[in-house]
Amino acid sequence: MKILYCKKCLMPNSRPRIEFDDNQICNACRHSDDKYLNIDWKKRKEEFLQLIEPFRSNNGSWDCIVPWSGGKDSSSIAHKLKFKFGMNPLLVTFSPQLPTEIGNLNREEMIQAGFDHIFFRPNQKIHRHLSRRFFIERGNQKIAWDAGVNTIPIQVALKFQIPLIFYAEHGESEYGGRVLDETSGKMRNFTEVLEHQIGDDPRNWVDDVVTFTDLSPYIYPDINDISKAGVTAFYFSYFFKWSMLENYEYIKSKINFHTHPGGRTLGTITNFDSLDDKSDNLYYYMQFIKFGFGRAIRDISRTIQNNQMTREKGFELAIKYDGEYPDEYLDDMLDYLSLGIDEFNDIIDKHRNPEIWKKENDEWMLRYPLE
Ligand SMILES: [Zn+2]
Repeated sequence: MKILYCKKCLMPNSRPRIEFDDNQICNACRHSDDKYLNIDWKKRKEEFLQLIEPFRSNNGSWDCIVPWSGGKDSSSIAHKLKFKFGMNPLLVTFSPQLPTEIGNLNREEMIQAGFDHIFFRPNQKIHRHLSRRFFIERGNQKIAWDAGVNTIPIQVALKFQIPLIFYAEHGESEYGGRVLDETSGKMRNFTEVLEHQIGDDPRNWVDDVVTFTDLSPYIYPDINDISKAGVTAFYFSYFFKWSMLENYEYIKSKINFHTHPGGRTLGTITNFDSLDDKSDNLYYYMQFIKFGFGRAIRDISRTIQNNQMTREKGFELAIKYDGEYPDEYLDDMLDYLSLGIDEFNDIIDKHRNPEIWKKENDEWMLRYPLE
C-alpha cells in the first residue's frame, strides 16, 4: 500500500481507521471545517448548561468525575467545571507508568487550587510484567495502562454513585477515525471504548505470572451495570470548540502550570503536552515504527486543523522532529521493562511495518516519506 498524506494536514493514511476523500483530505480536517464554519457553539453551550443542571449536587457530594492526568486538557476541563459552571468534580487519575516530576507538580498545583482527587496506582509487579510482555509482543508497553485509564474512572463512578463523567475529546472524530453515529462525538459509547481503546479483553491476559484477580484494575465494568447505575459520559469537545493550544493558554492563566524543562518535548514541537509519563516517548516512537508517523506529525496536524499553523511550516518542523529516538528517560524505561539496550532495539525493529520501512545501506528509511 502506498502511503498518502492528507493535503491539508500531515496525517498519513496509515493511521488506523482514518479516511481520505477524493481530494486526499482526511476526515479530521473535514471535522475541523465543521468546527470552525458550521457548528453553532452558542447553541452547544446552552445544551451543555441544560445537561449539567439536573446533575448539580445540592448536598455537597461530587456531581461529576473528570478522568484526570493533570495535563492541560483535563485540568482546564476540571477548572471550568468547578469555577465557571459551579460543579463539584472528583478528579480520578490512573497512575502514569513512570510519573515525571512535572506531572506531579502540575497535579499538586490543581489540588492546591481546590480539587478532590483519587490517585489509583496498580500493583506494579503485575503492571510492569504486562508492560514488558506487551512491548515485546505488540510493540506497545501501554496496553494494560490504556485499559486501566479507561476502567478506573468508571469503577469509581459506580462505587461512589457519581453518574456523570466528562472526558476531553472524542479522538475518533477530532483526529480522524470511525465515527459510529451522530451521538458518538457527544456521548461516550462504552462499547466503542471496549472495541477501540482496549482492543482485547483483559480477562485473556492471565499467564504464568498474572492471575485473574490481578486483573481487576483493567476489567471494564459490565455494560449493563453501567447503564443500570445511570452512568453517562460526555465529551467536553462536543460542547466547546476544542484546541489543545487554547486549553494550555487557559490553564496557564489559572494555575502555575509547568512545561517541559528542556523547552520542547522529545519527538514533537510542543512543551505543554503529555508531560506526565516517562513512558510516552517510547509510546509515540512505536507509533512511528508501526504506522510511519510520530508525535510531531500528530501534534502539527492538530495545530494545522485548528488554523494555528500553515502546512508548509508544519512540514518543515515535522521533517526536523518527527520520530526522534526515545533517548530521554531511556535508562528509566530499560529498567522498567527489564531489558538491555540491544534487546530493546531488536524489539523495536521487529515491529517495523515492512510496508512502511525499507533498509538501505544498513539504515532504516521510510518508503514513502512525508510529502
Ligand atoms: Zn488532514
